[in-house]
Formats: sequence, C-alpha cells, structure tokens
Amino acid sequence: MKTQADRTAWLTGKPPCITPPNQPQKGWRLVLLGAPGVGKGTQAELLAVKLGACHLSTGDVFRAAKTLAVCDRSPAINAALDYMRRGELVPDDTVLGMVKERSDCLTCGGGFLLDGFPRTVPQAEGLAELLGQLGVKLDGVLSYELPLEEVLERISGRRVCSQCKASFHLVSLKPKVEGVCDHCGGRLFLREDDRPEAVRVRMQTYEKSTAPLIDFYERKALLRRVRCGATPDVTFARSLQILGVSA
Ligand code: AMP
Repeated sequence: MKTQADRTAWLTGKPPCITPPNQPQKGWRLVLLGAPGVGKGTQAELLAVKLGACHLSTGDVFRAAKTLAVCDRSPAINAALDYMRRGELVPDDTVLGMVKERSDCLTCGGGFLLDGFPRTVPQAEGLAELLGQLGVKLDGVLSYELPLEEVLERISGRRVCSQCKASFHLVSLKPKVEGVCDHCGGRLFLREDDRPEAVRVRMQTYEKSTAPLIDFYERKALLRRVRCGATPDVTFARSLQILGVSA
C-alpha cells in the first residue's frame, strides 16, 4: 500500500527528508488552486498517496509553527501567525521566504503538490522565478471549482485532526467515532480560521487575491479545471482523469 511521503522537512524547514521507498523517479509537480473549503486539502492528501508526491501546504507550515513555544518562533513567524488568526493573508515576502528556505522540497524526485501556495499573483511570479532558478517545471495547475453556498456549507462542518491534520466533515465525511480521527486517534477540532468571522475575511481575500491566479495560469496554458463532486472520491476520480492517470 502506498503511503504519504514524509513531510517533516517541509513543516519544520529542517532537512533531511525521509523519502518513501516507493518514490518514483520523476514525480508530478502540481499546484492546487481553489477557494477555502472546496476540499483542496483532501484532494492533495489523496493525490499525494496515489502519485507519491509530497503534499506541501503553506497553511500547515504556519499551523505547525503555532505549536512551537513563543521563544522558539522567529519574529517573522509570530507576525505571520497574527495575520493567520485574523483570516488574512500572510505578506508575500514572508511566504516566499519560507518557501525558498524549503526549496529542497521543490527539487525532490518524488515531486510535489503545492496546496495554498501561491495565493497571489506576486507569489505565483516568485514561484515561477524560483522554479526557473532550480530548473524545475510545473506539470500543471488543478483548479477546484464549487459554487459559493456549497463552499460555506463545507467549511462550517469541517473538522481537522490535531495530530495528523487529516480532514473530516460533520455531514459528508464523518469520522467513525465522533470527534476522533480515524487514522491516528487524534482529537478533531474546528480550525481557528474556519470560524465564521474568519471565513468571511478569507472568502473576500480569495476573490481579491487568489482568483486572479486562474487567469495567470490559464495564460501559461497550465490550468486544468476540476468541477468538485458530491464526495471527495468523485472529485478525486475527476482529478486523475484530467491528469491522465489510471484510477
Ligand atoms: P490554508 O490552510 O491554506 O487555508 O491557510 C491558512 C492560513 O494560513 C491562511 O488563511 C493564511 O492566513 C495563511 N496562509 C497559508 N498559505 C498562505 C499563502 N500562500 N499566502 C499568504 N497566507 C497564507
């Protein structure tokens, strides 16, 4: 059975990366786009297992930093966490700096699935420049699409594991035991930035800053639109079909 690649190097910024034994020679290099709540993180987890590529979420890096003692956080990370708590985007320079510190993850033979980055056109330009310097090409950009009312419904029911970060939903992806992660037994919680007041800010931010990325990648002929289905499995099957990967 395939398992997810080890993400310690990405989350902590500290090499070495322990790659899984089934890692392919040349992995997929993809960016995943989509409004908060479309289920992009779940698709990234499913694709990571199927394609053997590492799931690189910038949101997870910030959440991992939150568990550090205040004295172990850099001033830049502390400032970033304040933006995150308010549901606002962390400044581009901070995010780009953090990704550059982890550029080993972008040259890894197993490939990568960027989730939540880039979030703005300047970040996409910064990523293109960085990948150019590293001699790495993107294989594509998957844009997950869903009407706004459904997005809001999904976010309010989302629960995340405090240990392994797996995502569940109170209606569409219930854990076997209420409040407990199926995979590791960790406690499930409502993310601070999934609270209604933060969600409103995140949706406005998405429309203003992230939606223009769709045009940006369309112009580069990298965009592949994925209509989100009723369940994560349906969306996953569509993603594989679009990538031309057998299920
Ligand atoms: P996510 O889990 O991707 O929804 O990210 C959670 C929060 O982390 C966001 O609401 C932002 O505050 C911050 N964040 C994550 N990735 C980025 C990014 N690429 N640019 C700016 N802020 C980010």
